[in-house]
Amino acid sequence: MTKSLSQLKVDAAAIAANTRWFADRTAGGLLAVVKADAFGHGDVVRTVTRAGATWLGVATLDEAFRVRAVDANTPLICWLTSPSDDFDAAVRQRIDVAVPSAAHLHALAAAGRRAGVAARVHLHIDVGMGRDGTPVGEWSPLCSIARHHERTGAVDVVGIMGHLSSADLPGSPQTRIEGMVFANALRTAVRRGLRPRVRHLAATAAIITGAAKGHNLARIGAGLYGIDPSNTSDVLMPALELTTRVVHAHGARAHTGVGYGHDYVTAGPTRLALLPLGYADGLPRSAAGRAEVLIRGRRRPLVGRFSMDMVVVDTGTDSVQPGEPVTVFGTGDDGAPTVTEWARWAGTIPHEIVTGIGTRVTRVPNVDVPSATERPAPVPHREKVAHGSLA
Ligand SMILES: *Cc1c(COP(=O)(O)O)cnc(C)c1O
Repeated sequence: MTKSLSQLKVDAAAIAANTRWFADRTAGGLLAVVKADAFGHGDVVRTVTRAGATWLGVATLDEAFRVRAVDANTPLICWLTSPSDDFDAAVRQRIDVAVPSAAHLHALAAAGRRAGVAARVHLHIDVGMGRDGTPVGEWSPLCSIARHHERTGAVDVVGIMGHLSSADLPGSPQTRIEGMVFANALRTAVRRGLRPRVRHLAATAAIITGAAKGHNLARIGAGLYGIDPSNTSDVLMPALELTTRVVHAHGARAHTGVGYGHDYVTAGPTRLALLPLGYADGLPRSAAGRAEVLIRGRRRPLVGRFSMDMVVVDTGTDSVQPGEPVTVFGTGDDGAPTVTEWARWAGTIPHEIVTGIGTRVTRVPNVDVPSATERPAPVPHREKVAHGSLA
């Protein structure tokens, strides 16, 4: 197979540095969220565990199986399952499962009984997201059922989790309310006889803005990949660079219509270059009319509608030739657009840009990772246990 002209370079050193930044700011453990192919960054498991992550987290059980295949030991949780999922395999592979309902709990307990090993679960309280997790009104009975199954040895309630809806808004009263809901849920769990070792509520924004209290494990996704949902910090390092090459270029007369519908018409004589990337590769159509790329050290506009497979650059007076390198986005150090700019152009968030890069783009992990001797000692693969009382 030939390598695509379009490449997504993944900077493992940046991800390691971001991981260490969060590890330094989380009193308890750091759970690295590697869902959605690590937010489009590929396999980062070794990078983040060596840089201080003590837990791993994903959305689906299938994702968890893939992580287990490359990391047999680090505590691993998934939080988006159906009661009909293969919990037998989850128990066998020591994958923790978040529990949003009694139906999940019963299914996990049944799997634990069949295996003769307690299913490791985290009870998930909906603190105010209004999305996943157990509604507050059903929390107390869920804790009682969990305690019952724990007594029989079918489940082990390893943790309690919640997820904040508004932590990206510093000082949000909603976050204070959701923090209180979480604290109440913990008290209820303890009253029902549960002794969860980990309590996790905070994600990237809550750690950056200091919004969450009372937890001893932080689930960090976006921040590991250089994204700050709160836009309040500038210490995180972007880890992706998307490059391609001009495949075709030609002079164009004034008043030349470009692409479907001729949304763009050249004002004067100019030069148009064709790039082999389109919306199927993750360039959002909604960014047309604003988006730019870097060619020969200069920003140049993408013009006309984005097609599925290609876009057109107006290179002006530069006599750009086929084969010339183009940076679509990068760290911004060289003047190239950043993922944050792309998100603004498309009216979305950086998460959607990084998770949307298509499979035709070749992933290139960078080999410029600090050697083992430059790194802190690897973190032992064991569960971080809570300190202090839950009450
Ligand atoms: C995706 C996700 C996270 C990670 O959030 P970030 O803002 O990316 O750090 C944490 N918890 C849950 C439940 C998630 O779905």
